[in-house]
Amino acid sequence: MTKEDYYEVLGVDKNSDKKDIKKAYRKLALKYHPDKNPSKSAEDKFKNISEAYAVLSDDQKRKMYDTYGHAGIDQQYSTEDIFRGVDFGDIFGGMGFDFNDIFEQFFGHQYGFRRSGRIRRKGADLRYDIEIGLEDAYNGLETEIRVPRIEVCEECNGTGAENGTSIKKCPQCNGNGQINHTRKTAFGVFSQVAPCNKCKGQGTTIEKYCKKCRGKGNIQVNRDIDIKIPKGVDNGSQLRLAGEGESGLGGSGDLYIVIHIKKDSNYRRNGADLYMSRFITYPQAALGTRMQVKTIGEDIEIIKIPEGTEYGDIIRIKNKGMPYLRGRGYGDLYIEIKIKTSKRLSRKAKRLLNELNNEL
Ligand SMILES: [Zn+2]
Ligand SMILES: [Zn+2]
Repeated sequence: MTKEDYYEVLGVDKNSDKKDIKKAYRKLALKYHPDKNPSKSAEDKFKNISEAYAVLSDDQKRKMYDTYGHAGIDQQYSTEDIFRGVDFGDIFGGMGFDFNDIFEQFFGHQYGFRRSGRIRRKGADLRYDIEIGLEDAYNGLETEIRVPRIEVCEECNGTGAENGTSIKKCPQCNGNGQINHTRKTAFGVFSQVAPCNKCKGQGTTIEKYCKKCRGKGNIQVNRDIDIKIPKGVDNGSQLRLAGEGESGLGGSGDLYIVIHIKKDSNYRRNGADLYMSRFITYPQAALGTRMQVKTIGEDIEIIKIPEGTEYGDIIRIKNKGMPYLRGRGYGDLYIEIKIKTSKRLSRKAKRLLNELNNEL
């Protein structure tokens, strides 16, 4: 299923400013809010518009989306990261909805509410896609990649508060991070616990926000990482670099490098075996010949084409394919022989072929 364009989801155009985006979101959210519209399709719609709003209302994320589309967002941000820093309370304040409660229902523990105290989340895992040539996959490759990732803000140690200013107990929930709602109905008194919307369940409020991270507690940085791609990797192979994902107060996530191999003009690959085709002339096929073949490992092999070779015959050169990943040895190289029929024949060539035909 293809994901709908965020701008289309909100019904705004690509040049809309933040105010228009906010307005469009507010209008749709009122319509699809689960309290107003309990159907499953409304819930999905509500999730979609909220996600679109979370991305388009954040300059960094919007830029990422404008440049790379959904892939740019999905590869860089977890669901949690997409919603991190979005102030839904600002939009829905005074309307009687508790937004944190809804997001907790939707995204469960991922959104990371806790009873009280600062949430010590682990940084998100990241994915990085890299494309290499077949020769790099044969030899292995050491290279440097630049990975944009979220790190704990050093200026405030992730607290989000400017140095020297205090972090206060939230007055609304008295530091508990959650609030008890009691409802009297015909069936009795119901008590429901919901995260505090003033402090978003943190239990603390910040007097003055850190200038570097603007209160988020984390910043986006580009990190250069040396990686070593082992010999024999194939399309879709993954490398996991522990601790090289995003950093959070609860530790760092992992970085997954997904390898893509460019289509090669000489070889087709199947596991560790390589396939190529070579043309010979009809007389070479009939009489047999020798030919030079350059292998992926840059060796020159002399192969013998036997007398009476037919179109499509395959010659195998052992151990001249790709190295086995995490194993020993190499696959084989298969050469499919094709016979070239010339379309432009000289008068002499025609005469000789006629003679040959009569002879055969
Ligand atoms: Zn900071
Ligand atoms: Zn609170």
